[in-house]
Amino acid sequence: EADGGEGEDSCSIMVAVRVRPYSQRELSDPNVKRVVSMGGNETTVTTDGGNVHRFAFDFSFWSFDQENGDFACQGQVYTSLAQPLLGKAFEGYNTCLFAYGQTGSGKSYSIMGHGQDTGIIPRFCEELFSRAVRASNKDKVKISVEISFFEIYNEKIHDLLASSKEKNGKKATLKVREHPVLGPYVEGLSTFVVNSFEDVEGWITLGTKNRATAATGMNDKSSRSHSVFTIVLTQTKTERVENQDHDHSITSKINLVDLAGSERQSQAQTTGERLREGANINKSLLTLGKVISVLAERSMASKKRKLFIPYRDSVLTWLLKESLGGNSKTAMIATISPSHHHQEETLSTLRYPLCNA
Ligand code: ADP
Repeated sequence: EADGGEGEDSCSIMVAVRVRPYSQRELSDPNVKRVVSMGGNETTVTTDGGNVHRFAFDFSFWSFDQENGDFACQGQVYTSLAQPLLGKAFEGYNTCLFAYGQTGSGKSYSIMGHGQDTGIIPRFCEELFSRAVRASNKDKVKISVEISFFEIYNEKIHDLLASSKEKNGKKATLKVREHPVLGPYVEGLSTFVVNSFEDVEGWITLGTKNRATAATGMNDKSSRSHSVFTIVLTQTKTERVENQDHDHSITSKINLVDLAGSERQSQAQTTGERLREGANINKSLLTLGKVISVLAERSMASKKRKLFIPYRDSVLTWLLKESLGGNSKTAMIATISPSHHHQEETLSTLRYPLCNA
């Protein structure tokens, strides 16, 4: 068993910020101004009013100067932030990766990708299978991979891979249950064993389609839900001791999460259902922020100190309890717009992960 509590690299959370290129909309404003600049791992926001805000993260991913090749493409983002988690997963750690930022800042582009520019999830799965093949050839390790894909909307869970029959009827809402040993899980969630990257691709396509279908006619619901793609990796090695076979298994869980848009909900729409929904989004992002900042503090300060972690304050953090903290590794990609139009949201995104304890 891997031991996440102690060990050589105590830093259990990595944070990156990624600025996207200008959108068509931003470019159509003749007075558009770029307020974000990056150098090394530092990100600087110089607001319209001339205030300078500096932030240091593990990585700052730049999108401009594409002609000169001086920008972070999908491959680089994957290699820096997600690939190390894959290594940790094979060592037996649970891992989580989150994309955080306002709607339209590049969360889905980073996590899933766009057309040929595939993002973190497909790259991660592709490499997982190529490593699995190597491990089974070289070390005689048997590997099994199981996936699931769901969204949390308004603190309710919807299966993104459920069969079409269930989808056409009343949309089922799934519940979180807590197993005495294995911890929280989604009751009745579809899980599928996948044997190749092509298998996974099929499920990704279906899940993405289901997420988009649910969103149409609901005022872009997908920006107000969290989507969680989970991979359960089990490695089994058989050893022969005194003429008997003994199986040793290590199981690790990988959660790749596209969070709900972090923008404050507009005041005009904050009535009834919309008000409750906004409050739920805020609560789950706030709770996740708290959990992460406690974990970051814990990895920097003494691990002996007991800090209270409010996992049960939101469905998202409750479900991810076994994958955050303890025996786990976490990465976060904060996505931002470059333009002055969004400077306030950009600042609040950059302040988020480690500044709301
Ligand atoms: P979000 O998921 O945060 O709402 P999207 O990922 O949908 O935002 O991004 C909004 C738009 O910007 C999409 O058209 C997407 O393809 C584009 N985009 C986002 N980030 C980048 C990037 N780093 N490079 C190129 N295009 C990007």
